[in-house]
Amino acid sequence: MGNFNPVSDRILNSNESITLKLNAKAEALRKEGKKVYNLTAGQLPYRPSSVLIEKIEQQLNLLSSYQYSPVAGKPELKEKVIKYFEESRGIEIPRDDFGVVISTGAKQSVFNLLGTIINPGDEVITLAPFWISYPEMIKYWQGTPVPVVPTAGINVPPSVEDIKNAITEKTKAIILNSPSNPTGIFYDEEWIKNFADMISEFSHVGIVSDEIYFKLNYYDPAPKYPYHFRPELLERTFLIDGISKSMACTGLRIGYTVARNDVIKGMSKLQGQSTSNANSLMQGALIEYDFSDIDSYLGPVKNHLRVNSEIIKEKMQQYGLEGAWYQTNSAFYFFLNFAKMPIINKFKKSEDDDGDYAFEICETLISETGIVAVPSSDFGIRNCARISLVLERQIFTEALDILFDFLSKE
Ligand code: PLP
Repeated sequence: MGNFNPVSDRILNSNESITLKLNAKAEALRKEGKKVYNLTAGQLPYRPSSVLIEKIEQQLNLLSSYQYSPVAGKPELKEKVIKYFEESRGIEIPRDDFGVVISTGAKQSVFNLLGTIINPGDEVITLAPFWISYPEMIKYWQGTPVPVVPTAGINVPPSVEDIKNAITEKTKAIILNSPSNPTGIFYDEEWIKNFADMISEFSHVGIVSDEIYFKLNYYDPAPKYPYHFRPELLERTFLIDGISKSMACTGLRIGYTVARNDVIKGMSKLQGQSTSNANSLMQGALIEYDFSDIDSYLGPVKNHLRVNSEIIKEKMQQYGLEGAWYQTNSAFYFFLNFAKMPIINKFKKSEDDDGDYAFEICETLISETGIVAVPSSDFGIRNCARISLVLERQIFTEALDILFDFLSKE
């Protein structure tokens, strides 16, 4: 191939998704005729609400659905998104100072937001376990990801004190993702309140609030955010949400950012020179869609998630794994803590070996049982894995029996 090296260092140095590798392995097993239980899903396995589908169908007949829309989104949708945030979060967003950008999925919202706020060398704090994509995106924009790891357990957020200690002059923002992917819980009010008090002292730090799972809490109360306790923090909060999780529309790619005008202007510039507007057809459908339908649509979905979370509890007790159990309350994930399960002893080389065996455990899990889970190294935590709660009850129970039987043996 000579000395032609077309792929940039930036891309060569970014990590590929581990899930993709494991899914390829699972696919190979399936082809061999082995039963595979895929617990990696990051999406609901249902069609969206029929009310929304009808609105999408109506858009098919309109010329505007097939044409460019304004880069930052159709004005009626932008106004609707602001109202949606105001009503669902119970806050007031100052229209003169804030704006909206509609993007191609919340992933692009986060990506463009980070591109807009990060200067090379800026630090962005992420709270482990975090969504796999944050550090990669931060690095892509030449920022430095600064992970803060929890010390009180994987289902308890890092201490506010540890986060405070991680803040430097170069800290540009802290990413909060509540409810959280991968733990399936949202940060409790006391923690959020303490965090709000702490961050108030650091006026140079922004808060990226990735609220993509906001609507998916299946135990009351609804999640709270720092701006609820200190309204002045809204000014430096960047709100992210979208249709993927709450409307079961991962493939239709719409995400929204609500933020102060200078950031919105920057994001629009970036989007205008890269992908332009998010798809016009879906924007049109969302303008016509009554967002209050989301709650009725999610009713049965939340019941399903609640039941599956109860099954996890029962099954962990049955297999003697209750030491690693915690109550999930939102999104659709559970985080398995191998370090608190007998399986870890099969992989540790000695009593005090504290190496990370998450990937090896997940690899063995697939080849021996056909269960696919996402190993935790990329979430910034060792010796854990994420499973998804979305599978239908009977198959989910069957999968848990096989999974917990494997994890409870040394
Ligand atoms: N943020 C978090 C925490 C996620 O888990 C995901 C998707 O998995 C996203 C953002 C992106 O969602 P979207 O499908 O809207 O790009």
